[in-house]
Amino acid sequence: MECIFCNITEKKSEAEILFEDDNIVAFLDIQPINYGHALVVPKKHYDNFLTVPSNELAEIVKATQFIAGAVKRSVKADGFNVITNNGDSAGQTVYHFHFHIIPRFNEDFTFKPRVKNYGTGALKEYADKIRSVISKYKDIYNGK
Ligand code: AMP
Ligand code: ZN
Repeated sequence: MECIFCNITEKKSEAEILFEDDNIVAFLDIQPINYGHALVVPKKHYDNFLTVPSNELAEIVKATQFIAGAVKRSVKADGFNVITNNGDSAGQTVYHFHFHIIPRFNEDFTFKPRVKNYGTGALKEYADKIRSVISKYKDIYNGK
């Protein structure tokens, strides 16, 4: 299937590339939330955060940290967001894993959804649900 980010990493489509090494390409988002909004994309195609092998993810995080520092410094941002959208419900539109680096300026906009409150017993109930899945898969996480 056609993938715009594969096309960019393979130089079949144009992008304003900021940095590239053997594993990743960083380029400017064409529809920036703020000017300087960058994307960090692995050269290998993985659909989302969960399908990237953890050793490769570590390399992508390292590059993202480096690029985030450069973006912040170059546009004199006050801060930045590093985010990854996963799934339609989370706003993912390109199904080739990527980190967004969004430079932020004091009082530019709020990024804060309304929070919920847990009802009686619900905090533990949600924690139990998550702990039970964690305990089912922890051997895989620990490489056993
Ligand atoms: P997401 O919605 O998290 O999947 O993010 C996809 C991002 O890719 C969006 O912010 C788009 O603006 C950006 N995008 C899509 N096509 C291109 C392209 N050809 N060059 C640069 N950025 C792109
Ligand atoms: Zn791809």
